Amino acid sequence: MHSLSYERARDSAHAIALAQQPGSAFIGDGTNLLDLIKADVEHPARLVDITRTGLDRITETADGGLRIGALARNSDTADHRLVRERYPLLAQALLAGASPQLRNMATAGGNLMQRTRCPYFTDTAFDMCNKRMPGSGCGAREGYNRVHAILGASPACIAVNPSDMNVALAALDATLLLGSPGGERMVPVTQFHRLPGDTPQQDTLLRPGELILALDLPASPFATHAHYLKIRDRASYAFALVSVAAGLDIDNGVVRRAAIALGGVAHKPWRVRAAEQLLEGQRLTDETCRAAALALTAGAKAFRDNRFKIELAQRAIVRTLRQAEGRA
Ligand SMILES: Cc1cc2nc3c(=O)[nH]c(=O)nc-3n(C[C@H](O)[C@H](O)[C@H](O)COP(=O)(O)OP(=O)(O)OC[C@H]3O[C@@H](n4cnc5c(N)ncnc54)[C@H](O)[C@@H]3O)c2cc1C
Ligand code: SF4
Repeated sequence: MHSLSYERARDSAHAIALAQQPGSAFIGDGTNLLDLIKADVEHPARLVDITRTGLDRITETADGGLRIGALARNSDTADHRLVRERYPLLAQALLAGASPQLRNMATAGGNLMQRTRCPYFTDTAFDMCNKRMPGSGCGAREGYNRVHAILGASPACIAVNPSDMNVALAALDATLLLGSPGGERMVPVTQFHRLPGDTPQQDTLLRPGELILALDLPASPFATHAHYLKIRDRASYAFALVSVAAGLDIDNGVVRRAAIALGGVAHKPWRVRAAEQLLEGQRLTDETCRAAALALTAGAKAFRDNRFKIELAQRAIVRTLRQAEGRA
């Protein structure tokens, strides 16, 4: 047991100022962080409560997009009229996550920052986990790795990002607004989450004491043809083995633009622009969908228990594209 202090921030500037003390962690609704503190995985010296900072609003932007405050709850976002109308992909992905009770609590910022569900990371009984204890090794590489990465893994870590929301945000080209004492910066969500490399302890590009203020969705051409498919061991309340977020802009049967992101397969949502380009200017057929699926999973590498994920991902991509088109 270790002691920690608690401060409630009155606004974002106050939250950022409080978090400059080393050892501080922002806490949204705590559905991930509190579990990790109780499990002795995370040890913040001070919690900075950001739930009263007023960052929970969803507003239209001048360019026809949407700004979602970092404290917007997953249920409220999924249920928002403009999200349902313009970004059904995001609404579907959010509703595929967790349970209604959790979605009522889970914030957008917390979902972006939630940590991997690799059992060697979340259970301190295991003494090998480079993400939890840098330099200790990776228990999953030679251990139980059914739910682990097939793309972008490194010798140091083969964990996956567990979020559904992040997969849709990647396909929708969302950008994050981050705040620090030095000012604000924008980071595309596709660059925000990192591959593990030699430093798997670092999930994202967020700097210490930096606060996610909001996420911006650009105007989307995928309001009509979009689908999120989540494949998991149970029908509900389980993390994705593989998930696919696909958006298509179709004119007279021909794909003008495509965006496809894969979840459950890598340390970050997986997008390959070249795979999308194979569809653009084409009609969707089994052949074009299959070609895109192979391009999106090119270089996939399985470990002992997760070979099934490669074919599962490829089939899921084809099915999601067909569902997005409206033919499945
Ligand atoms: C049983 C269970 C099942 C779940 N199933 C799914 C699922 O199927 N799909 C899915 O996507 N998710 C799932 N989740 C995860 C859930 O969506 C996240 O726990 C939730 O989104 C986290 O939000 P929070 O506000 O509670 O974050 P917290 O727990 O408060 O914080 C999580 C992390 O984010 C950081 N943080 C929070 N807000 C900010 C901010 N604005 N700026 C910077 N850092 C911030 C915190 O410091 C902490 O490190 C599940 C969770 C549980 C407990
Ligand atoms: S996969 Fe990553 S999180 Fe899991 S044991 Fe290996 S280093 Fe830790």
